[in-house]
Amino acid sequence: MLNGKTALVTGSTSGIGLGMAEKLAAQGANVILNGFGDVEAPKASVLAAGQAHDIKVGYHGADMSKPAEIEAMMAYAQAEFGGVDILVNNAGIQFVAPVEDFPAEKWDAIIAINLSSAFHTMRLAVPGMRAKNWGRIINLASAHGLVASAGKSAYVAAKHGLVGLTKAVALETATTGVTVNAICPGWVLTPLVQKQIDARAAKEGISVDVAQKELLGEKQPSLQFVTPAQLGDLAVFLCSPGGDNVRGAAWNVDGGWLAQ
Ligand code: NAD
Repeated sequence: MLNGKTALVTGSTSGIGLGMAEKLAAQGANVILNGFGDVEAPKASVLAAGQAHDIKVGYHGADMSKPAEIEAMMAYAQAEFGGVDILVNNAGIQFVAPVEDFPAEKWDAIIAINLSSAFHTMRLAVPGMRAKNWGRIINLASAHGLVASAGKSAYVAAKHGLVGLTKAVALETATTGVTVNAICPGWVLTPLVQKQIDARAAKEGISVDVAQKELLGEKQPSLQFVTPAQLGDLAVFLCSPGGDNVRGAAWNVDGGWLAQ
């Protein structure tokens, strides 16, 4: 279904981004990976997911907190893949502390990586998408793009901002073949969340297993983690003709978190 399209997924060496990349590859899209850490294993798993198609998988190590590196990554996408058809803004970090103790440099990093990076990739990708009159932009926001939790001021501000940015650019492109949407997951068991479970276990002197159950029980009525594969399936739908008129949505996939 996505043969001949190129998907750039930021922060795709791990977690949700990797799940997204695999699902898009399985539909025949070429994939550009980005993120820190080991690159060979994620590259191999995306190639394996796309093995039924003759897909190309690339990588660019841009630090998403640095606009000049983002510009270099978009230039790489243009030179090596003929541009970006599907842009998944997924790179993100978390830091938890009350506002009065929140380190200013952590605030800056979260706003840069979780919000401003999407502005930069979008401003650079939209002209090419408009020229082709087809494009998909999928911003990984969060349940925290729609409601807050204590201790997460920067993350909640960045994710609410990302939902707003999604709506604004969806309106700017509303008469074109370019759609812009946000996906708002609840808890997904990735390294980003594992850190929070481990911190909770250490702080409360409880086992990791109990901390995990408490974390789900507090917010997520399904008591199950959402999976990267489920989020990837939604991304595939948004890329299908069925998604042509889904515009500016902030689509929660959260085990009922926001229904409460
Ligand atoms: P993760 O820690 O597993 O993966 C984050 C990815 O981003 C990694 O590939 C990492 O290398 C990359 N990254 C981090 N900083 C970067 C930088 N400066 N430049 C480039 N890449 C960078 O996290 P995840 O849970 O898969 O999160 C992915 C996205 O989903 C984030 O935006 C996160 O806020 C969002 N999200 C996660 C959850 C959850 O429960 N895990 C819930 C809602 C939203």
